[in-house]
Formats: sequence, C-alpha cells, structure tokens
Amino acid sequence: MGFSRACKIGLGEKLLYWWASNGRHDLPWKSDSILFASALTNIPSGSFHPYPIWIAEVMLQQTQVGVMLPYWHKWMTKFPNVNLLERASLEEVLLVWQGLGYYARARNLHKASKQIIKHSWPLTLEGWMAIPGIGRTTAGGILSSAFDFPYPILDGNVRRVLSRLQACPDPPQKILPILWKWSETLLDRERPRDFNQALMDLGALICTPRNPKCSLCPWKKNCRAYSLDKSGSFPVKMTSKSLSTAVVGVGIVLNDSGEVLIDQRLNDGLLGGLWEFPGGKQEPEELITKTIVREMQEELSITVEVGEELISFDHTYSHKKIHFEVYLCTLIKGIPKPLASQKVKWVRPESLHEYPFPAANVHIINALKKRLLEDKSQKAS
Ligand code: SF4
Repeated sequence: MGFSRACKIGLGEKLLYWWASNGRHDLPWKSDSILFASALTNIPSGSFHPYPIWIAEVMLQQTQVGVMLPYWHKWMTKFPNVNLLERASLEEVLLVWQGLGYYARARNLHKASKQIIKHSWPLTLEGWMAIPGIGRTTAGGILSSAFDFPYPILDGNVRRVLSRLQACPDPPQKILPILWKWSETLLDRERPRDFNQALMDLGALICTPRNPKCSLCPWKKNCRAYSLDKSGSFPVKMTSKSLSTAVVGVGIVLNDSGEVLIDQRLNDGLLGGLWEFPGGKQEPEELITKTIVREMQEELSITVEVGEELISFDHTYSHKKIHFEVYLCTLIKGIPKPLASQKVKWVRPESLHEYPFPAANVHIINALKKRLLEDKSQKAS
C-alpha cells in the first residue's frame, strides 16, 4: 500500500477541484481569522489569526461542527481574544464551555492562554505541541489553517477516509504511523491550508461514518474499499480485546456527619445527568492518589487527603475499558463547587439508591456500604 507520485498528484487535484465548489467555505473561524489577522505583527503575511482557529480546533477535538458552532460563537463573544481569556477566571471559562463535555479542553485553553501571552503565538509544530491540550493533529490543523504551513493532519475524518481509500485491514488506532505517512504524502505543499480543509470536508460531507456518498466522491476511482463494494466495512473496528484502557481515580469523600460527596454530570454528553463519585482520568506518569487530589481541586475546588483504597475494578464500555481505582478521602479544605458538573451534594450513604448512578458506580456503592458496616461492627465490638 502507498501512493505513487502520479497518484498523489491526481488525488490532490481531484480533491481540491471537488472542494472548490463543494467544500465548507463559510466556517466562521476562518473568515473571522482573516479579519483579525491584520492586528498581529509577528506572523507571516497571508496568515489567518490563530486565536479563533485554535479555539475551533480544540472544540472540534471530540465534537462535530454542528454541535460546537454555537459554543464557538458564545466563546468568541465572551473571550474575543487571548488577552481576555487569560484574564478570565477558570470558573467563567468552564461556564461558557458547560455542556460541550471533555472539560479538560476548556481548562487547557485557559492554562495555555497564559503561556501564549507570555511567549507569543507558536509558529512551529513543537511550539504548538508544547501548548496544553494540543496533540500532533491539532497542531498540524492550526499551523496549516492559520499560517498555510505544510503540516499533515489526522483527525477522525481523515483516518476514516484514508482507511477506506486503501481498504486497510487493521483498525486505524493500530496503524497510526502509516496513516500519518499517507496524510503527509498526499498533502499538497503548495496549498496545505486548502488541502487539509478539503480532506476534512470530504470526511465530514461525503465519506461519512455511515452511508458514505461514494457516487459523489472525487476519489471513487482510486478507492479500494469502493472498488471492493465494501465502503461501509472500513475502517475496521477494534476488537474488544484491543480496546484502549483508561485509568480513573475516584475519591470517596466523607464529612464529619458521615455524609458522602457526589456530583451530578452535565446533561449533555456521555452519561449526562447521572450522579457519580468525583474523580477523573489519570494523566501519564501520574500517581493515582495525585490524580484524585488534582481532580478534586480542578473539578470541585476542594483539597482532600487520600487515605485507604476502597476498591479497584475494570468496567468495559462499548468503545473503551476503564480501570477504576477508588480511595477513601478526607476533606481538608474548601466547600465543594460544581466547576465541571451541574450539582454537588452531601448525602447519607443509605440514601445513595435515591440517585441515578452509572452502572460502574454500583460496585463502589456496594463496597462503601460493606466498609461502613464493617467499621460499625468493629466499633461495636
Ligand atoms: S469512494 Fe466512498 S469510501 Fe472511498 S473515499 Fe470516497 S466516499 Fe469514502
């Protein structure tokens, strides 16, 4: 598999020709960026302003354009430039983000604004990848969109299109270096901004996850999945054995009255509106006890001391496996605030059944009740 030079040029030309009359040319972060770019002095001429593009690229990380667009407008009204973002409190930022999910993205934007104000806008891949919350594809997206620099991208749309184009027998997650190579090989170095946008538009408008519109596709004559009449069979899915595993640290915070702290997830997004015990995903190289302390601080604005482990277990969702590590915690300082949830509440452990919890939390509730019973009988004896 791979692309010959002639094939690469042919694919690029066909894509850009299709894009000229069928692409999404009205994305506001591009038109607004043109308007704002003249205000900057340290960026190459012909650039678009990176701020609206950066915000859009981060919002698009786990979200489709139709969903993120109202949030992007709201954000740009509230924080029209990086200076105002930097001066805002995290609570204000989370409030504007509320409902969009994956709150680490909002926290990272806020954190990154301070870095950008201090060091100015990065102009290299490494520079962007040093910004919190920016991986290689987001960095490539910003550099090509804003500055027309020749960096490839590999978001979900591009992975799908390339997997189909080559009828890849492996799931995209397993062959990322190969997909990166293809995205880089195909990139039009004369028009990287347009090419990357065209590739994303092809994935969003034609080569859609379900029912791709192959008859309208500029690449149908080159597409292996289409020639096999198996467009819908690609990309190949991960088997449950190869599901990625995340580790989540959970804190059971008890107060002096014996009540336990729970919070209610936001209504939009995964498991929206359900209650849960506070916690979050472990960062690379982070001790799980540190994860819990950090999550409590970031999401509830409280300081806790992490005590004994209560339980640990695995729970499998349709797309990933989560390893939960649950610890008993003591509240040291602060009043819990729902910075990343819609409500927080102290409840008696025997009343937990009155609140809807995601399935995985049942293990935690049972372990907590058992532990409290053991403590009670120990005290009684
Ligand atoms: S022909 Fe169909 S499957 Fe192949 S790239 Fe085009 S839309 Fe996707």
